[in-house]
Amino acid sequence: MISKFDIQKLQDLPIEQVAGALGLHVSHHKALCPFHNDSNPSLTFHRGKNRYRCFVCDAHGGVIDLVMRYEHKTFLEACKWLSDSSGSIIDFDKFSNQFSSDFERSDHSQSKPFDASRYARFFERPLLNDEAKRFLFEERKLNARVVQWCRLTSWKDKQGVPWLQTPYYDREGKLIGIQNRNLIKGGSPRFRFPQGASCSIYNLPVLNLLKPGETLFIAEGCSDCWSLLSAGHKAIAIPSATLLTKKDKDLLLSLSSSLSLHFAMYPDQDEPGERLFLQLREVLPSLVRYQLPEGCKDFSDLYLLKR
Ligand SMILES: [Zn+2]
Repeated sequence: MISKFDIQKLQDLPIEQVAGALGLHVSHHKALCPFHNDSNPSLTFHRGKNRYRCFVCDAHGGVIDLVMRYEHKTFLEACKWLSDSSGSIIDFDKFSNQFSSDFERSDHSQSKPFDASRYARFFERPLLNDEAKRFLFEERKLNARVVQWCRLTSWKDKQGVPWLQTPYYDREGKLIGIQNRNLIKGGSPRFRFPQGASCSIYNLPVLNLLKPGETLFIAEGCSDCWSLLSAGHKAIAIPSATLLTKKDKDLLLSLSSSLSLHFAMYPDQDEPGERLFLQLREVLPSLVRYQLPEGCKDFSDLYLLKR
């Protein structure tokens, strides 16, 4: 059971060291802000208060909030990450549901709402740079029409790092979030999300194309979703290693009842994949499991194997 005392211990971990552990380069109590396209270090650490604040985009908070926002983790996942990283021992298996729901009720994000108008234009005429083309078409062998449907685009930051931008839309086609993926192999951070972005269930517009009785695949993460789509399936994705929120579960439930869909999944061949499948099956008892063959850790592997 995690106690307020344990949370306080995590919250008191030195913030500059936590930032360093996340991969931020901290110098003179400052770092490049990962929450906006920063060129001069605007993220400032206040060691006395053990907090950070960006004077450009106004992202701010404490240690746990920094991990949540930067790694796109839930509160509990951020605590787990900090606890693993700090070596402190917290028994996460004994987390009570009461505790989780307490946190769902209170607001920890403090972040501004996602400003779609700032970003929507990037996806009107998607542009793929060489790094993005190599990643999508050579490495992942994705279908060009899928890439177009998903409106994937790319850009380079001021340090010359190429990023693949994946827009998240709601069912009505409104932009609700963006995932930026670092296209440099082993580059850090691997993902970035603009402030307030809602990157929960991916590819919701596909729901409008489904006919009653059709099968909808559920993937773990965008890239497996692209492979499933390229293989001719209809698919949505749920972010990996992220606990399903109540809102996500409600959406899936309403789909299963209103559209009489069949749900299917190729769980990743690892512990998080198995956990995600079991969590989903609680919400969707009819969820069909497809087993990946030996040697394929996820559907993308299988897709590449068959090509
Ligand atoms: Zn900022």
